[in-house]
Amino acid sequence: MKIRLEKSQCVGNARCHAVAEKLYPLDDEGYVATEGFTVEPGDETLARRGARACPERIISVVDD
Ligand code: SF4
Repeated sequence: MKIRLEKSQCVGNARCHAVAEKLYPLDDEGYVATEGFTVEPGDETLARRGARACPERIISVVDD
């Protein structure tokens, strides 16, 4: 499972970070600091929660 982010469309409200701090780091200006990552085993639920939390719908879950 992978996570993809349309980072350029992030508005910086940090909802993803609030739900899953370790998976969705923020940069110094409060925007999400990753364009995506491979989800480690055991982090799937947290990753999905973070994706669902984004009101801009720019976080996609890519299932293997
Ligand atoms: S929830 Fe979405 S818009 Fe908000 S910081 Fe995270 S990626 Fe950006």
